[in-house]
Amino acid sequence: MNQIADLVDGARHHETRAIARLISLVEDGAPELREALRLLAPSTGHAHIVGITGAPGVGKSTTTSALITEYRSRGLRVAVLAIDPSSPFSGGAVLGDRIRMQEHALDSNVFIRSMASRGQLGGLSAAAPQGVRVLDACGFDLVIVETVGVGQSEVEIAGHADTTVVLLAPGMGDGVQAAKAGLLEIGDLYVINKADRDGARSTARELRQSLAMSTPIDGREREIVLASADRGEGIDKVAQAIDAHFAWLSTSGNLANRRARRISMEIEHLAIAALRSKMIAHADDLAALTSAVVDAKMDTYEAADELLEIFGRIKP
Ligand code: GDP
Repeated sequence: MNQIADLVDGARHHETRAIARLISLVEDGAPELREALRLLAPSTGHAHIVGITGAPGVGKSTTTSALITEYRSRGLRVAVLAIDPSSPFSGGAVLGDRIRMQEHALDSNVFIRSMASRGQLGGLSAAAPQGVRVLDACGFDLVIVETVGVGQSEVEIAGHADTTVVLLAPGMGDGVQAAKAGLLEIGDLYVINKADRDGARSTARELRQSLAMSTPIDGREREIVLASADRGEGIDKVAQAIDAHFAWLSTSGNLANRRARRISMEIEHLAIAALRSKMIAHADDLAALTSAVVDAKMDTYEAADELLEIFGRIKP
């Protein structure tokens, strides 16, 4: 067996170090990644992919940690991929912040990892789904994708999950703020965390009103759950809501639709990234075509067609 086959074999047998190596290959956009993903492909599709998102400080990592405890108590294997779209090089720093999850560090059935995108073509939008695929293929029952940071890419990355959980907290993430951040469109269920604080019920009420004004994704009513993650309160309800959403996805046919949509998005990202890299590698051809247009020998549409034809003749 070659090295990659060994690595994949180890990862499939739940060896943490092998799994970590595979995620590093994803981060680095390493050439061996293709072979690894090809070997892993047949074992994908088992895990429930849960996205957790929300403003910084709302309690995402505390909630994730509490959910790990909840699912581990049922004997399930859990992986967490923490993703920070706003700072592609801060992988280590993000992990350092995730001290709260340290309580699970010695549990071999829990895998926690921050992921940056160092060499990956197409950045995190290409790397995140590949990271998820690796963890899925390694036999985790639940893969939690926690997005750190705010902005459009956060919303986009939330699209890589089967179930997207949006976290809000009283006073810092009320209905209007959620609407502004685009969080009303992406949630399959909402958790008002820090329910021990004043204003949790009114935040829930406000959110319910805001949600009532927008159309639910796939037509399913979005549940709102109150929790205090740092005390573990309400986390069983959050897990039940996550499971209920998954059951609904599976029976309604929406799971297959969502997964197909994600795969097509991923293919698109990879194709565009490949095109970009060809564009860089063939700067000379682009320069020649530019001169031809400058000299009025062809127009820009013809030049673009010509460039695509040149690309078509090159092997990937
Ligand atoms: P993240 O940035 O969204 O990952 O948020 P963290 O999980 O790091 O939590 C931010 C802060 O909120 C920490 O100081 C937590 O201890 C605190 N926190 C988390 N959950 C709760 C909760 O349910 N109630 C209260 N009062 N504080 C909480």
